[in-house]
Amino acid sequence: MKLLEERIRQDGQVLGTEILKVDTFLNHQIDPELMLAIGEEFARVFADKKIDKILTVESSGIAPAVFAGLALHVPVVFARKNKSLTLPEGVLSADVYSFTKQVTNHIMIDQRFLKSDEQVLLIDDFLANGQAVEGLLTIAQQAHAHVVAVGIVIEKSFQKGRQILDERGLQVESLARIKSLHSEKIEFMSS
Ligand code: 5GP
Repeated sequence: MKLLEERIRQDGQVLGTEILKVDTFLNHQIDPELMLAIGEEFARVFADKKIDKILTVESSGIAPAVFAGLALHVPVVFARKNKSLTLPEGVLSADVYSFTKQVTNHIMIDQRFLKSDEQVLLIDDFLANGQAVEGLLTIAQQAHAHVVAVGIVIEKSFQKGRQILDERGLQVESLARIKSLHSEKIEFMSS
């Protein structure tokens, strides 16, 4: 998505060789107009799918997921990160190791919000090693829901997440695909 790539080039800060900071429009301050365009792009890409619901993870997945939900006219459910050691009754849950924060989060969704046979689209802000998406897949599996595809705003294609999801046979659509962040330079897959 050209508009997104331009914004990443303009605002993205490279930290080390693996982390991209985009807190001016996605991860802290949010640009609603860009999010609207992102939501519409996801709706265009997944127009041929039957989607009942979108699943994401708090907090950075929520903005793109809500705008995709708006464009696709479906509800959005976000997995909450649970800090207490005991899990409440009636929740679907999974452990997710955070690549950026280097901690394991317990993510959970109330089972009222995900039913068997629902057709779900997973959306997240970044795809790095695939842990967040794997956690959502585990939760969907517990509910016997069907994951129709995965939508990612920024994929770091040099990390292993994309390959893992491809090998699982999932359709993954990323709006920006980063080939490399070496020497503080942002290189996209297509360029
Ligand atoms: P994964 O679970 O695929 O390893 O990592 C995805 C999650 O980690 C995303 O939800 C995102 O919040 C965070 N993340 C991974 N890499 C980056 C990055 O380069 N920049 C930012 N801002 N977040 C990242």
